[in-house]
Amino acid sequence: MTVRAPITPDVLTVPRKESSSNGRINLLGLSWDKLFKTLVQAGTPERQARMRSRQVWQWMYHWGVRDFAAMTNLSKAYRAMLEERFVISLPEVVRRQVSADGTRKLLVRIAGGHEVETVYIPEEDRGTLCVSSQVGCTLTCSFCHTGTQKLVRNLAPDEIVGQVMLARDDLGEWPEPGIGSGETGPRLLSNVVLMGMGEPLYNFDAVRDAMKIVMDGEGIALSRRRVTLSTSGVVPEIARTATEIGCMLAVSFHATTDEVRNQLVPINRRWNIAELLDALRAYPKLSNSERITFEYVMLKGVNDSDEDARRLVKLIRGIPAKVNLIPFNAWPGAPYERSDQSRIRAFADIVHKAGYASPVRTPRGEDIMAACGQLKSDTERARKSRAEVLGEAGLA
Ligand code: SAH
Ligand code: SF4
Repeated sequence: MTVRAPITPDVLTVPRKESSSNGRINLLGLSWDKLFKTLVQAGTPERQARMRSRQVWQWMYHWGVRDFAAMTNLSKAYRAMLEERFVISLPEVVRRQVSADGTRKLLVRIAGGHEVETVYIPEEDRGTLCVSSQVGCTLTCSFCHTGTQKLVRNLAPDEIVGQVMLARDDLGEWPEPGIGSGETGPRLLSNVVLMGMGEPLYNFDAVRDAMKIVMDGEGIALSRRRVTLSTSGVVPEIARTATEIGCMLAVSFHATTDEVRNQLVPINRRWNIAELLDALRAYPKLSNSERITFEYVMLKGVNDSDEDARRLVKLIRGIPAKVNLIPFNAWPGAPYERSDQSRIRAFADIVHKAGYASPVRTPRGEDIMAACGQLKSDTERARKSRAEVLGEAGLA
């Protein structure tokens, strides 16, 4: 069986020049270094460019300002130059839905007319934004709605960090320039998880650049411990998550034998459980208290037995881990059912008794199809064929 090769961001990422902005370059999503170089190319003397890029950076990401005219610590002439050559352009929110439980789902339109979903989940002690990294996905996990949609393209860094900024807009959470620093009290948007549409490690560079902005002290300034990247198990890219991004890692584990994991998470046919665990054992951590999150979707009669739970704790022995149990979220045509509550409890108990935290994730936003694995852009018609899905799951 063949798992399709990852498609590189270069092929799929749209050019940065915005046709709607008369060829002006979008500054959003540029790394520190690229922003500096871009300002130098626009004629800023090198000795000034460091300071200027820092100022523009702070306006964009700390204060949420998009109008150059409002960047009052820059000279009028410099602001005019910026206005002439650049834009700060975010993707557009085309639909906003609010669930009975307060979860908010934004449908975000990106260049080319494509759409992705971003979900904000308020909890008592935090507010988590679930961010997408691709339109669709190359992979075909058989329990995931996104997996039924073809990969349309990778998101560019501005489209990824733009989701965080749009959510802050929606929450009205930008500090007011000259008044607050924005650091008083708990933040409404305090955590970011790359658990929306797509496989973040197949769009590594863009995800890295965007998360660097999210974690930058002079940018959006979330602590690295509050940013989690979830992967289905792209083994060769796992170590880079620690060394180049430095955020927390979650792995979609979901099964305790290769036979079952091949069907649920077909990338397992390329890198099996043993190889995945080796990569996780070798995962570089900045501190001893950091744990890897093992995500485990609870599918009735498929992966939820006591035996599975016992196998799971054996497999992960020696890895600083926590196990996040996710009750399956149904979607139209899904071939699985959610495990019963009592089964989930029994499974969680075994994992817990073995010494691992085993929280059960409460499904959020189900009424607006915003729960884990339910995201999919309705407007994207390119569906994987049945043969393609079954073939990749080894069921053809
Ligand atoms: N592509 C990445 C991140 C996006 S999916 C990955 O696979 O890890 C985020 C999490 O939701 C993953 O653990 C995924 O396996 C899980 N998930 C997908 N579909 C689901 C569903 N229908 N019900 C519950 N969880 C699901
Ligand atoms: Fe893609 Fe993740 Fe869904 Fe698998 S679970 S199809 S990797 S988005």
